[in-house]
Parts: sequence; structure tokens; C-alpha cells
Amino acid sequence: MRPFQFSRADDAKSAIMAHTAGNESGAPHTTSQYLAGGTTLLDLMKLDVLQPARVVDINRLQDGDLTKVEFGTKGLHLGAMVRMSEAADHPDVVWNFPVIAQALDLAASAQIRNMAALGGNVLQRTRCTYFRDTSYSNCNKRSPGSGCAALEGINRSHVVLGTSEQCIAAYPGDFAQALIALDAQVEVSGPSRKRMVEFAKLHRLPGEAPHLETTLAPGELITAFHIPAAPFARRSLFLKIRDRESYEFALASAAVVLDLDGDTVRQARIALGGVATVPWRARGAEDRLKGKKLDGQAMKAAADDAFAQAKPHEHNKFKIELGKRTLVRALRQAASLEVPA
Ligand code: FAD
Ligand code: SF4
Repeated sequence: MRPFQFSRADDAKSAIMAHTAGNESGAPHTTSQYLAGGTTLLDLMKLDVLQPARVVDINRLQDGDLTKVEFGTKGLHLGAMVRMSEAADHPDVVWNFPVIAQALDLAASAQIRNMAALGGNVLQRTRCTYFRDTSYSNCNKRSPGSGCAALEGINRSHVVLGTSEQCIAAYPGDFAQALIALDAQVEVSGPSRKRMVEFAKLHRLPGEAPHLETTLAPGELITAFHIPAAPFARRSLFLKIRDRESYEFALASAAVVLDLDGDTVRQARIALGGVATVPWRARGAEDRLKGKKLDGQAMKAAADDAFAQAKPHEHNKFKIELGKRTLVRALRQAASLEVPA
């Protein structure tokens, strides 16, 4: 591991200011990193994929909202420093937004969920082998302009939606699919302002610049997630398909929220994981279901729509059929849930 400056902040303001410390211009250092649970950051530092000059530990932030889970008439507040396991087990989350509880509960291992925080979770980096292994020189995400080893390499875990000629790496997280399906907002604090960002606008498609993964500016700190009230979200679930039943990333996943009038769909919210470069909202599929009877034909039409633009590579063609079946199964299961009035 390379040497770096380490500091520990007690409140959000000093954490943000620590990013600018020692910089005469007063601008945040572009290679600074916040340390939450460290389960992504420390891994990547040990692998020499990330080489931050400065690491700011945010585990002792005293600001109350950062560590709170609160549910009220406006919806759910999840502080960015709430641990994955705490949010997954919280009765308000389990009861009102099962899709969030399940997405968190099916992620990683119990130890990681106890350590990792929600803010760090949504900013985890891809698990693309070529990105994580610095002996491969060609990775546009790690080294802009160097090429993409995965295009002609082993790309079974890579994705079919939202790809570009520069990068086909999967967004690996699960929680993000629940957030994007529920129209969540992200509360962000920076050196000069606070702002709210639609979760759907937090991550960037790889396009020509796969190394730019989010719309956060250097030094900006995620402080919370707001999930608007949605009583119908009690009928929601997260279905994750993977190579083994625990401690594994998704090959395909679906976060589904259904608002039903009998067997007719008032509205459906659908997000897909394991198949896309960013958390992926399948709006076309949602539109296909709106006002329709939720039968096999409607579910298949929605799934076909969700993957209509898919671009497979040599080893990941199976993800198109797997992704469609995952969505159909998730819709079927969500429709059959017994949801108390
Ligand atoms: P850190 O490692 O501390 O930080 C991650 C990044 O976010 C860093 O760049 C950091 O600077 C930045 N950051 C952290 N907090 C903030 C903040 N508040 N504001 C701005 N920037 C911030 N995840 C899944 O979803 N599903 C899985 O199946 C899964 N399996 C895993 C299996 C293994 C073996 C491992 C090691 C991880 C797995 N993960 C999985 C990923 C894991 O969930 C993430 O590593 C974890 O959630 C990251 O949270 P953290 O608090 O440890 O983040
Ligand atoms: Fe790098 Fe993306 Fe290509 Fe993986 S898929 S090698 S992360 S550019």
C-alpha cells in the first residue's frame, strides 16, 4: 500500500473541509476519498487500483441525521452512515419498503453488511477483473484511454445494457436498484452548498469516459437518501440470481414495485441489476404494464421491452434470457404477495 494522509472527522463540515486542507486554491483534492466501512476502498487501495493522497474517516461523524433511519408521512430517511444490516433489519424498512430490506439483505456477507454504510454502498466500484487487476494495462475506467481488456476477454460477468465501446463493466450493487425504482433522492453536501440529486442522476453511463462514474463533485459527501412515501411499495421485492446462493454478486436481478387494482396494473416500477453499467430503471417495461392485466403475456412483453436494446458480447449472451426470466419471475412473485390493507 502507498503512503497517504489520514484524518478523522467529527462532523460533516470538517470531513468536507478535510478534502481541501493544504490546498492553496481551497479546492478539494481530486484524489481524496472518504472512508466509511472501507470494504470497497481498502480493497482497491491494497490492489493499487486506487491511490488516494488523502483519506478522511467519516465513521465518527456526530451529525444525527447521518446515522438515522426515520419513517414518516413524507417517506423514509436513510442516513448515509447507517450500516447495511441496520437498514435491512429496521422494522419501518422491512414493513414499508421490503424491496430495500431484501436488496440489502441479499448483498455481500453478514460481516460486510455490519461494516459497510449506505453511502459507501451506492458508490462501490465495479468488480470487472480487468479493472481490479493492475497487471492488465488496458482498462479505460482505471486508466483513461488505455482500452478495454474485457471486450475481447472473458466477459461473462459483464453487461448488456448501457454499455459503450469503451466499457462494458457491471454496476455491482443491489441497494441502488431499490433506490432507483422508488424514485429516491440523494442529499449531498459540498464545500460551498448542499443539494438534492435524483438517485437516477447520481451514476453516469460509461460513454466515452468510463472513469467518470458519478455526478458528484470532488469532496462532496452523501449525507442521506430520501425515499418518497409510496404506500403501494409494500407490494415490492428484490429478486437476485447469482452463481451461488450467498456472498455473490448478481448475474441478474430485478427490483419490482407494483400498484395493483385487482389484477390490473395501476403502475409498476422496475429496476434491473447485474445486466447494466449503472443502476437501471426499465421505464419502457413499466409503460408496457400500465393499465394492463398482469398476465403471462403482459409480463413477457415487459421483459422483451426491457432487453430490446441489449448488446451482448461473446460470453454474456445468456444474460438477456436470464434477465428477462428474472423480471418475469419477480413480477409474478410480487403479484402474488399477500399485502395487508
Ligand atoms: P467504503 O469502502 O468506505 O467506500 C466506498 C467508496 O465510497 C469510496 O470511494 C468512498 O470514498 C466513498 N464514500 C463512502 N461513503 C461516502 C459518503 N457518505 N459520501 C461520499 N463518498 C463516500 N455489494 C452488493 O451490493 N451486493 C453484493 O452481493 C456484494 N458482495 C460483496 C462481496 C464481497 C466479497 C465484497 C468485498 C463486497 C461486496 N459488496 C456487495 C460490496 C459492499 O456492499 C460494498 O463494498 C460496501 O457496501 C461499501 O460500503 P463501505 O461503507 O464499506 O464503503
Ligand atoms: Fe475496464 Fe470497463 Fe473494460 Fe472492465 S469493462 S476492463 S472496467 S474499461
